[in-house]
Amino acid sequence: MIVTIDGPAGSGKSTAARGLSQRLGFEFLDTGAMYRCVAWSVLDQNVDPTDEEAVEVISQQIKISFSDAQVLVDGRNVSEAIRTPEVTEVASLIAQYPVVRTELVRLQRQAAEGIDIVSEGRDQGTVVFPEAFCKFFLIADPQERARRRQAELRTQGKNMSVAEILQQIDQRDQRDEQRTVAPLVPADDAVEFNTSTLTIEEVLDQLEQIVRS
Ligand code: C5P
Repeated sequence: MIVTIDGPAGSGKSTAARGLSQRLGFEFLDTGAMYRCVAWSVLDQNVDPTDEEAVEVISQQIKISFSDAQVLVDGRNVSEAIRTPEVTEVASLIAQYPVVRTELVRLQRQAAEGIDIVSEGRDQGTVVFPEAFCKFFLIADPQERARRRQAELRTQGKNMSVAEILQQIDQRDQRDEQRTVAPLVPADDAVEFNTSTLTIEEVLDQLEQIVRS
């Protein structure tokens, strides 16, 4: 059984997907982490992120795995390294490349084979798992999304103004929405939620109720 949670950056989908998977006893797949792994590898190998062909090769060779709460690339723990602002920016850029998407979609379907899973990203309900049992699309007001991102960055010891974060989020959204392959849109059959004024427990209660109904 597959449940998909899509939405823009800062909409609360990672926290919701992780929490919902625990409540349901399902596995959890963070597909954004996979784009981040490719981006991290590009930077680690000093490859120019705008060199689409070189990035394609990396996406075809990369070995991504998840172990407990860790994200591994070729056996190296990159869980923290993939959360830096530099990786965030490059991930958004390389997610536009069609070959990169094809490769990661293949890995995502492989990861979901034969298990119950909550899969979170931008295209899970539209492209990767169109037959999913239940689909959600989370949104949140821009100010709230920026505030969440600011809090996340603070845990990494980084300080950025809400205005600066808003500008970056806006740029990432535009790339996700305007790319030719798998643009960010809700699936026709997705249930849409605005999480701005809800606590995480309230979001989870509503999602769980819908899945179980
Ligand atoms: O969700 P997260 O911010 O970790 O995703 C990193 C980047 O990967 C996003 O900016 C987005 O462009 C891309 N992405 C995507 N499709 C997905 C998941 C993430 O294009 N399914």
